[in-house]
Amino acid sequence: MEEKFVVPGEIVAIAEEFVPGKGTYETDGKIIASEAGHLTLDTKNRVALVTPRNPITEPKKKDRVLAAITDVKSSMAICDILSIEGATRQITGETEATLHVSSISSQYVETVGSAVRVGDVIRAEVTQSEPSTQLTTVNGHLGVVLAHCGRCRSVLKLKDKSLYCEECERYEKRKIADDYGGVGVA
Ligand SMILES: [Zn+2]
Repeated sequence: MEEKFVVPGEIVAIAEEFVPGKGTYETDGKIIASEAGHLTLDTKNRVALVTPRNPITEPKKKDRVLAAITDVKSSMAICDILSIEGATRQITGETEATLHVSSISSQYVETVGSAVRVGDVIRAEVTQSEPSTQLTTVNGHLGVVLAHCGRCRSVLKLKDKSLYCEECERYEKRKIADDYGGVGVA
């Protein structure tokens, strides 16, 4: 399978070898692109098709986002951006972002896992969008807005400025946002 970017009017294949699929048409024995997009020459099914590129809502620098923590490594947390604050459009581009240990808090963070854990939802600010999306939660309004108990998965409640599991009667450490629990995230 061969893939490349094509523009409308471009000859993408010959009709002897391929039939026109989505985003292409046939004329004079040639398959022509009718849209700009990604050309796929499916040699197995002998179909040529062009998949248009979607307009992308990408997180930009200074955007505030809600993101779920998907992995915690020694120097960073991997996040999946769920939404951009104030943006009604869905994010259709790259949603993976990283939160580096040095960008978590203004206070010293010993380990990433002492500030965020897999499954937490954080409010963060985008500090860089190219070539990869980088986040920060240093500001007091940024940090974890929803977290579950590592033992029983109950939603942790805010108690004495810490997170507490009423089921297990124990505290868990996080870098929490100043309005923890007040954000409507499902
Ligand atoms: Zn618990």
